[in-house]
Amino acid sequence: MDPFDSNSAERANLPRNMIENSMFEEEPDVVDLAKDSAAFPTFPALDPDEVVFEPRSSRLLVRGLGENEMDEEEEDCESSARLLGMSFMNRSSSLRPNSSPYTRQNPPRSCSRPSARTMVVCVLFLVIVASMTMVLYFLPECTFTRAGCRKPNNTTPQEIVYPIATNGELFPWAQFRLPHSIRPLSYNLTLSPDLDNMTFTGRTVINMYVLHNTKRIILHSANLHITKATFKLGDGEANDVTILEYKPRQQIAIKFSAELKSDQYCVLTLDYSANFSQTYDGFYNSSYTDKDGNKNVLAATQFEPLSARKAFPCFDEPSFKATFLITINRKTNYTAVSNMPLAKSTPLSGGLIQDEFEKTTVNMSTYLVAFIVANFTPISKNVSNIQVSVYSVPEKKEHTEYALETASQLLEFYNTFFEIDYPLKKLDLVAIPDFLAGAMENWGLITFRETSLLVGKQSSPLEKQVVASVVAHELAHQWFGNLVTMSWWNDLWLNEGFATYMQYMSLQKTMPQLDIGNLFLAVRFRAMDKDALNSSHAVSTEVNTKEQVEEMFDSVSYEKGASILLMLNASLPGDQQFRKGIIQYLKQFSGLNTDTADLWNSLTQVSTQHQNVSEMMSSWTSQKGFPLVTVSRKGDQVTLTQEHFLLTSDNATHTSSLWNIPVTYVNDSCSFAPECRQVFNLKTKTGTFKLPESVKWLKLNYRNSGFYIVHYGNEGWAALKDALSNNVSVLTHEDRAALIHNIFALSRLGRVSFHQVLTLLNYMSNETETTPVMEALLQLESIHRLLDKRQEEALVARMKNYILHNFGSLMDKQTWGEEESVSKQELRSALLQMACSLNEKKCIQQAKALFKQHVESNGTLRIPGDLQQVVFTVAAQSDEGWETLLQMYGHATFDADKRKMLQGLASTQNIRQLVWILKAGLSGNIIQTQELPLVINTMVKGFAGHLFVWDFVQENWDRLIEKFSVGSFAIQTIVKSATFQFSTQAHLDQVQSFFSGLKERGSQMRSVQEALETIRLNQRWMDKNLPILQKWL
Ligand SMILES: [Zn+2]
Repeated sequence: MDPFDSNSAERANLPRNMIENSMFEEEPDVVDLAKDSAAFPTFPALDPDEVVFEPRSSRLLVRGLGENEMDEEEEDCESSARLLGMSFMNRSSSLRPNSSPYTRQNPPRSCSRPSARTMVVCVLFLVIVASMTMVLYFLPECTFTRAGCRKPNNTTPQEIVYPIATNGELFPWAQFRLPHSIRPLSYNLTLSPDLDNMTFTGRTVINMYVLHNTKRIILHSANLHITKATFKLGDGEANDVTILEYKPRQQIAIKFSAELKSDQYCVLTLDYSANFSQTYDGFYNSSYTDKDGNKNVLAATQFEPLSARKAFPCFDEPSFKATFLITINRKTNYTAVSNMPLAKSTPLSGGLIQDEFEKTTVNMSTYLVAFIVANFTPISKNVSNIQVSVYSVPEKKEHTEYALETASQLLEFYNTFFEIDYPLKKLDLVAIPDFLAGAMENWGLITFRETSLLVGKQSSPLEKQVVASVVAHELAHQWFGNLVTMSWWNDLWLNEGFATYMQYMSLQKTMPQLDIGNLFLAVRFRAMDKDALNSSHAVSTEVNTKEQVEEMFDSVSYEKGASILLMLNASLPGDQQFRKGIIQYLKQFSGLNTDTADLWNSLTQVSTQHQNVSEMMSSWTSQKGFPLVTVSRKGDQVTLTQEHFLLTSDNATHTSSLWNIPVTYVNDSCSFAPECRQVFNLKTKTGTFKLPESVKWLKLNYRNSGFYIVHYGNEGWAALKDALSNNVSVLTHEDRAALIHNIFALSRLGRVSFHQVLTLLNYMSNETETTPVMEALLQLESIHRLLDKRQEEALVARMKNYILHNFGSLMDKQTWGEEESVSKQELRSALLQMACSLNEKKCIQQAKALFKQHVESNGTLRIPGDLQQVVFTVAAQSDEGWETLLQMYGHATFDADKRKMLQGLASTQNIRQLVWILKAGLSGNIIQTQELPLVINTMVKGFAGHLFVWDFVQENWDRLIEKFSVGSFAIQTIVKSATFQFSTQAHLDQVQSFFSGLKERGSQMRSVQEALETIRLNQRWMDKNLPILQKWL
C-alpha cells in the first residue's frame, strides 16, 4: 500500500512510535477468570496453539498435559506445517533478545581452520546456536500475543483466560493472532451489493484442512450479521453450527464436541448481511458528482491491513494464503471488477446480472482480495500477453493514457528484472474518486487515488513523476508482497521497504527524465530525522494489537526500509549481485510467506565474496535508530567512532547499539566520480585506517547511499567548507545536500553550534543545484516557523533577511512560465514558495498577476503545475481571492489541480474561513473527508491555523477516529501536524494531558510519543539557540 497521498514533500513526515509493549502485559479486555478457577470451566481440547511458552527456561507448559507428553504432538505440528509451506519462523526479532539475530543462517565459515581460541569461541557459539535452535523449535507453540505468552506459575501451568462471547458463552480463544490448527485452502465468495440501500449480503464457503486435532475453528469477522452457518466434515453431511463472536478482537468461533482430526478436510458455509462500511476500509460505498451534476454511487474495497474481515468472514492474517473464487451479483447499470478476469455473466431474476470471476491461479493473502462495483470506463493494452487496463470515471477517461503507458513499460521492466513473469492474465489500475491511501496493490486490481493515477494533457512533469512513482511502487508489490508475503505485520518492511526501493530504482532506469533520485534523497533525509527520535522503532518490530498493525505503515517500514536496501546494494560488489539475491529470494519463496532473515539468507547465498549479508543487515533491522560516525585524524591515521544518533531531551540517555556499517569515503585527490569511492567496514565501536598525510579533507558516505550521519570535527568541517567555497563541484550534489542535512542534525543533537551551521551555509552563494538548495531551505524554514510560532518577531525578521540575503538572487532568477525539467521545477517551486511565504514583493506581485490572468481567461490560461500551489496560496490571502478560489475549487474536475486549490484555501489566516474548511472536511460534502489530513497539514503552517487546528483536533477527536482508525496513517499525520511546532512547557502539558486522557481512544499511539518528544526537543533547541540566533543572525 502507499498510504501517503501524493504530496511528495510530506511523504517522509511520518510520525513515529515508541510503545515497547511488554509481551507479558495482561490484555485489558480479557475477563480475568483465572483468579477464580472454580468459576472457570476448562477446555479439554489441546491445540498445539494453546501451548504456553515460558521464555526464561524454554519449558513448554500445556494445560492438562505433562511436559514430556508434548513431544509427539509438537513434532507433528511442525512437520505438517512445513509440508504446507507455512512459515512458523514468524517471530519478532525482538523476542530473541540475547540471542544472535542471525540464528537462521549457516554456521560461520570462520570455524573451518580454527586456532585454539577460535575453537573455544566456535564451540561456545555452537552451544548458543544449539540452544537457540531448541528455543526456536518450541517457539511455534506460542503465538506470542501478550495473552499467550504469560508468566506461568512455578508449579501448576497457568490457565488460559478466555473472554466472553456476545451470547454470554465463553469464547474459546484468548489471543490476538489466530491458532494454526486449521488452514483455509480456498474461498468461494458470493456478494450481492445493493447500492440503493447501501447494504450487501454475502455467502462465504471456506474449504479447510485440519493441521492438528482441535475442537474449535477461529476466524475473523467484523460488523457482519451472520444469518446461517453450516459445517461439513469430509464427505459427511452439512449441519447447522452456532457461531460465537468476540467483537473486541473481531473474531468468531465454532466449538465442536468431538475433535476434528488432523489431515481431515472440512467446509464452513456462512451467510451474512452487512451495511457498507462508512469509513475508507472494508467494502465501502462512495459517490461522486459528474460534470452534469448527477450523483453516482459506487462500492469498492480496501482491505489492508485488517479489513477483509469487514467484507467476508475469513482467516485474516497474511500467512493464511488460499485461492479465491469470487462472484458478484450486480444491477445492469454497473460493472464489476475483481482480482481475476471475468469468467462468465449470467442474467438473474429481478434485473440482476451475476458476474463470476476466474478462480485465482495463485495462493493469495486475504488483504489482497479486491472487488469494485461502479460504472467506470477502461482503456486497455496488451503487454506481453497480459491485458493491462486503466479505469476511471467516464469523464476522466482522457486522463488515463499516461498511467497505461507507464504501467506497461514498468510491467515489462519488472518481468525482466525479477526473471519471473507477472503471474495473472490481466492487470487493472483503477482511479477511485474517494480513496484514503495513495494506492493499494491488490493482486491484479490495483486501486489508486485519482491524483496518484490520472494525468491531464497539461500536467507538469512533476505531476507525472507522482503518478509514475506510485504505479512503480504498486507494480513492484505484485512480486514483493503479493507473490512473496511477509508472515506477519512485524515484517511489513519486506513489502513496503522493497516496493519503495524498487519504485525509485525502476524509474531511475526506465524514466531518467523524471529525476526521481532527488526525491529519493530527500525522503532518506526525512526518514533519518524521524528515526533519530527515541520514539522510533526497529524496522522489524513486535506487533500485537490492531493499532500497532496500523502504525507499522510509517516511514521506518517504507523509507528506512528502502534506504537500507540502497545501502546494501551499494555495498555489494558489481551491480548484479543484489539483483541475483532478490531473484533467488522470489523464486525460493514464491507463493509463500517469509520473514526478514529469509531475505538476508538469500542474499548471502548468492554472495560471490562470501559476504555475510545477514550479519551486516540484521544490525539495521533489529535495532531502532542509526549510527553517528565521528571522524578524527592524526597524521596519516583516520579514526572512526560510531554511536547511536539519538535525539532526546534527556542528555543522559545512552544506548549500546552497534551497527555493521559499510562506510564509504572520498577525499580531495578524487572525490566526484564513482571510482573515487573507497569502503571501510566499521563493525566495532571504533576503527582506523590510513590515508596519505597530504589528503586535505575527507567526505564520508559517498552520495549519501548509507543510512548514517557523519561528524567531521571542527577541522574537518572547516576544510570541507573551504573546499566547497572554492569550487562546489568537488562533491556530487547528493554529497553537498548530505553535508547540509548532517550539520543541521548535529546542531539539533548539540554537537555543533548553530554558528558552525551558518558558517557552512556561507558556501551556498555559489550553489545552484536543486537538492542542496532545497535541503537548506527546508531546514531554515522549519526554524523560521518555530520562531514564528513562538512570536519571536525580531528573530523572525532577521531570519527572513538572512534567507533573502542568501537565496534572493537565486529566487530572482526563477521564471514563471512552463518548465520541462523536473529538477528545475522542484527548485523553483521551493524557492518561490519560500519567497512568497516571506512576503517578498516581486514574488507576491508575479503570483497575483498569474492568478488574475488565469481567472480572467476563464481558466484557459493555465498556471504551470509546479507553480499552482504558490499562486493559489498568495491568492487566498485576500477575501476576494479566497472566494474566487473556492468557486474554482467547486467547479474543478481534475483532482491534482483541485488539491492545490484546497491547499491554497487552507493557507488562509482568516479564522472564519479556517472554521468553514475544517467543518466542510469533517462533513465530507464540499471537501472530501479523505483530504482532512492534507488540510490540517497545510493550515498549521500559518500562525492562526496552527493554534486553531490544535483546538479543532481536541474538540473533534472522536469524530476523527470514527473516520480514520486509531493508529492509521491519516491519524498519525493529524497528531503530528497539530503539535510539531509547539515549543513551550504550557503546550507540552496541554498535549500530554489531552492524549493521556484518551485511554484506548489513542493514548498508546507511537505518534503521540513522537509528538511529545518533538515538543520537548523544540523546547530544548529554543532554550539553547535563541541567544545564539540573536548573536549571529
Ligand atoms: Zn506499498
